Amino acid sequence: MYDYLIIGSGFAGSVLAERLASQLNKKVLIIDKRNHIGGNAYDHYDEAGILVHKYGPHIFHTNSKDVFNYLSRFTEWRPYEHHVLASVDGQLVPIPINLNTINMLYGANFTSEDVTGFLESKAEKRHPVLTSEDVVLNVVGKELYEKFFKGYTQKQWDLDPSELDASVTARVPTRINKDNRYFTDKYQAMPLHGYTKMFENMLAHPNIHIMLNTDFRDVKEHIAYKKIIYTGPIDGFFDYRYGKLPYRSIEFDFQTIDKENYQPTGTVNYPNSNAYTRITEFKFLTGQQHHKTSIVFEYPVAEGDPYYPIPRKENHALYNKYKALADSLDNIYFTGRLGTYKYYNMDQVVAQSLALFKKIQQETSQLNGV
Ligand code: FAD
Ligand code: UDP
Repeated sequence: MYDYLIIGSGFAGSVLAERLASQLNKKVLIIDKRNHIGGNAYDHYDEAGILVHKYGPHIFHTNSKDVFNYLSRFTEWRPYEHHVLASVDGQLVPIPINLNTINMLYGANFTSEDVTGFLESKAEKRHPVLTSEDVVLNVVGKELYEKFFKGYTQKQWDLDPSELDASVTARVPTRINKDNRYFTDKYQAMPLHGYTKMFENMLAHPNIHIMLNTDFRDVKEHIAYKKIIYTGPIDGFFDYRYGKLPYRSIEFDFQTIDKENYQPTGTVNYPNSNAYTRITEFKFLTGQQHHKTSIVFEYPVAEGDPYYPIPRKENHALYNKYKALADSLDNIYFTGRLGTYKYYNMDQVVAQSLALFKKIQQETSQLNGV
């Protein structure tokens, strides 16, 4: 008899498995329908011996000291600040749009003060800012919006930015300084020996059993457990009773190139050309030395593994119906990007699962009269 059956061995499930086993001495079975742990953060060595991320590039960044300290129990880190260039008007320019980007695009020599005035003259003010189109037009205006955001967003989501919540393009801010980094978080680093190794360390506790190649639907009647933690898609758990929650998927095209280096930065974005959105060269992320290099092209598609919840009003409304069902059940918790239908980064998922653990811990101590 397990105390907890955890469905999904990504960040959401693995954090809870580790906490419940090590802090509350619970017996945990963690299952995953894939043949590996780590969820979408899984990495492995390809045929050429280069460390690649099977489900697309994963760059760790967070402002949370708690999250960083927690994960630091299971890995050492390699400091890494991600840089992205966008292929626009025949040039590769930094994205997020910043002072360097504008100066390169317009052959100008603006200062931060100049660029503030320049952007103000271009901006199309929106009140309120509701959509992903509003966010960008409000700050940089139509020309830069069309160069950097409209086409990329259409490819990535198969929706016009005006059909998506503001939160989506708000992930990529506009800067008036020369900071070319993709993220500005306080902690930016990659697990020194890779994500999979970090997950192995998290799950290496005698109270944790792991079953791979195991779909919850096939085994739920055959395993004895007291409580469930579910990190798969919430609509699937309820057999799509209210209809399917929309997700966006990606086809990854991995290639190994017979030269040491392929492109100038970790990622190059292609907002307006090609069917793919971006190309990532893994050696930048991992720091690996190798005489060859491996890259991945990302082609967004409608069908396939559910990678991206699609943030828009009607989808939140449908999710809320499933959440109400979930809330009505005892002894089952939903967490993670799929379990709560949230476009979360890895650190947000870790924070969410640590918060859920605290809640479970409080419930347990109340039950025990502590
Ligand atoms: P997942 O990692 O999806 O894990 C869920 C697990 O549940 C999966 O392993 C799945 O196989 C399993 N499962 C589902 N249903 C069942 C079932 N019925 N039975 C058994 N098992 C089941 N975040 C960042 O912070 N930085 C990045 O650079 C970044 N890049 C990304 C790039 C891409 C292309 C994608 C798609 C995501 C990226 N993310 C990034 C987000 C990151 O992947 C997620 O935040 C994180 O992996 C979510 O963890 P999770 O445990 O919630 O879900
Ligand atoms: N985006 C864009 N152009 C870019 C980069 C991002 O239009 O060059 C938009 C696009 O809608 C994308 C969103 O901003 O889906 C979030 O970008 P991010 O790089 O955070 O996406 P992720 O890494 O999660 O795929």
